[in-house]
Amino acid sequence: MVNSDPISLKIFYDKLYSNYGHQGWWPLVDLKPEINPTQRGRFTGYHPGNYNYPKNDDQIFEIIIGTILAQNTSWVNAEKALWNLAQKNLISESKLNILDLDELAQIIRSSGYYNQKAIKIQNMLHFLQKNPISSLKKLKINILRQNLLDIKGVGPETADSIILYAFNMPIFVIDAYTKRLLSRIGLIPEKSLYEYIQNLFHAQISADYVVYNEYHALIVQHCVYICTSKPKCSQCFLNRYCQKIIPIKSKKKAKKDRPIPKIKK
Ligand code: SF4
Repeated sequence: MVNSDPISLKIFYDKLYSNYGHQGWWPLVDLKPEINPTQRGRFTGYHPGNYNYPKNDDQIFEIIIGTILAQNTSWVNAEKALWNLAQKNLISESKLNILDLDELAQIIRSSGYYNQKAIKIQNMLHFLQKNPISSLKKLKINILRQNLLDIKGVGPETADSIILYAFNMPIFVIDAYTKRLLSRIGLIPEKSLYEYIQNLFHAQISADYVVYNEYHALIVQHCVYICTSKPKCSQCFLNRYCQKIIPIKSKKKAKKDRPIPKIKK
């Protein structure tokens, strides 16, 4: 533990944003500009600074499937599975509805836990048959959230990712990266519960899906490149605020570090 300057969630956001810029989440397979602010995975699908996506129910559906594929794995692995589906022209409710469970599992294999995820996708498809996307759009956040949580295989992180990124409604997504970064900085106790952390964001950051979208994506970006499981604290622009600065042990180790992407806004 070290002495550090206090930081609010607002300043924290400003620091992340001024360093990394727009993140362009959630990437969509049919967007083809060669741009990827995250510098990982495919270089297509991102739309930095454009918050009008998703623009139709097909794109909403794709994001919903993507949130399930992204459970317990990196986006890069989830993205491979999504692209496998896209190449077979299967990112559609009608086509997935008639796809055999084992076949689906094999196509999404790269996302890990593929048998369970195939079942979860089928659960979601059953839900969407009874609750079409057009009707879900009209629900209030808390009702939509409860409906999503009632689907077997959908937990708070997946439900909130769907609400935020598929429906552009303001709810903050808490994931393992958020917990790690906030607890290291000293903004939350290490074992804080999901709701406690989410309430903290909702209390301090005005409900705005644009800000919540960027904020979560920026946290992920910082944790993928800097505040990794073995954090690169000497390179971290947040270290004056952080309560858990960990020095890099050797130059050899530092050489292996991934380059830090600097994004022009
Ligand atoms: S990289 Fe180090 S200094 Fe930066 S937030 Fe993580 S633990 Fe703190």
